[in-house]
Amino acid sequence: MKTPFLSIAVLAALSCSAASAQEAPSATSNAWSQQAENALAVRKAQKLNKKRAKNVILFVGDGLDPTTVAAARIFDGQSRGEDGEENYLYFETFPYVAYSKTYTTDFQVADSAGTASAMMTGVKTRSGVLSITGDAPHGDCEAALAHQATTLAELAKSAGLSVGVVSTAEITHATPGAVYAHAGNRDWAADSDMPDEVKAAGCKDIASQLLEFPYGGGVDLAFGGGRRKFLPSTMADPEYPEAVGRRGDGRDLTAEWAAKSENHRYVWNKTDFDAAPATSKLLALFEYSHMQFEADRAGDGAGEPSLAEMTAKAISMLSSDKDGYFLMVEAGKIDHAHHAGNAYRALTDTQAYAEAVRTARAMTSERDTLIIVTADHGHTLVFQGYPKKGNPILGVVKVENEAGETVVYPAGDEKPYTTLGYANGPGTIFDGKADLGKGRPALTEEEALAKDYRQQALIPTGGETHGGQDVPVYASGPRAYLLSGVIEQNYIFHVMKDALGL
Ligand SMILES: [Zn+2]
Repeated sequence: MKTPFLSIAVLAALSCSAASAQEAPSATSNAWSQQAENALAVRKAQKLNKKRAKNVILFVGDGLDPTTVAAARIFDGQSRGEDGEENYLYFETFPYVAYSKTYTTDFQVADSAGTASAMMTGVKTRSGVLSITGDAPHGDCEAALAHQATTLAELAKSAGLSVGVVSTAEITHATPGAVYAHAGNRDWAADSDMPDEVKAAGCKDIASQLLEFPYGGGVDLAFGGGRRKFLPSTMADPEYPEAVGRRGDGRDLTAEWAAKSENHRYVWNKTDFDAAPATSKLLALFEYSHMQFEADRAGDGAGEPSLAEMTAKAISMLSSDKDGYFLMVEAGKIDHAHHAGNAYRALTDTQAYAEAVRTARAMTSERDTLIIVTADHGHTLVFQGYPKKGNPILGVVKVENEAGETVVYPAGDEKPYTTLGYANGPGTIFDGKADLGKGRPALTEEEALAKDYRQQALIPTGGETHGGQDVPVYASGPRAYLLSGVIEQNYIFHVMKDALGL
């Protein structure tokens, strides 16, 4: 492959941000300047909303770091035929932004359990635990019972508010689990996941804690995946009859939920979900394990709602409570796509996440509902090279040569490379098969744009890892202005608690 004609000088100019000083003294005629002046006027007119919030909705994009946001906004714009760079994802239009430091008390690069616990309880804690303080060692039942940290859901339910939890992951997974459960180990999802000595010491599995939430009549709704943790091992799954439940104690928690009151309902497919009345207390478990990626959702046999549809149903149910509500909505599979080294599904799930936030803001008032949009931790996605503006975000790096033609701009090994890559992961540049001495495989634009393509990664790992960078927090509504600057992740809880007056 021939290297296209880009001089060292051109590349040097691209490499730094040296702008040419050509602005006229009154520079508002340029469209860029006009747009910036408009943005300035909007911010100068912004009034601080210091009122209490009736409702708080916390959106957590699992693994939604700043690189993923930037790539997804371009992907989203390009999916409508635009260049993409000028686009904003819906939540990027929120007036207040902060940066959240995600480390846990024992890890520089965090997991979802410790980070979700920080947001749910107001204290940083260890990785791998759910809503207990860092005083308890990981996996120690007695210590976990002695060091439970009060959650926002507990405060809210005790004060008469309603509480809902929504996730595309298993509803017992780390982020949703931290809302309603306390556990010394995030993996204690069903009784069969717990060692006998843990059960004997009195610790309850995460699924049963959702059923037995002891405040204010219990959690009002829970939508997500993870039926296997709720069904006994003697019962076949309704969607995949060859699979059985994972509970060893014989309990069918879905039936127990439905039996709690006349209003309690359990559904497992989209048709029944859509038909469930807004007055019901609804447990909806759409998959045996995690729900589908947005990119694969249409192919699901039993039908699954989108994250926006689950959010809409949750808000329509919770908003009948005159005392207000707390709702946590997680896009749990952005993280799963990243772990698989598959940027396409991470970006399409981020689009679905942005649509869910748009739905929530459209159904609520900025005057009384605080919406916070953040992530638990980052990943290792990198956004690299000098692709020309409008280059497909999932494509190989291409530039314009001096003849005005768009040409592939290869790396030092003369092979094309993609704008998006991972620092580590399964899409290794040696793909596990190629001879290390031969270097990374070449790739075409067509391969790179395929839905199942795993971006090349520098460090070969079985699954791509989390990243330790800060994650953004976007906020809109009462007391949203309190989310600014660089914050510790557990501060988010204190803003929500303050806004609700709890
Ligand atoms: Zn993860």
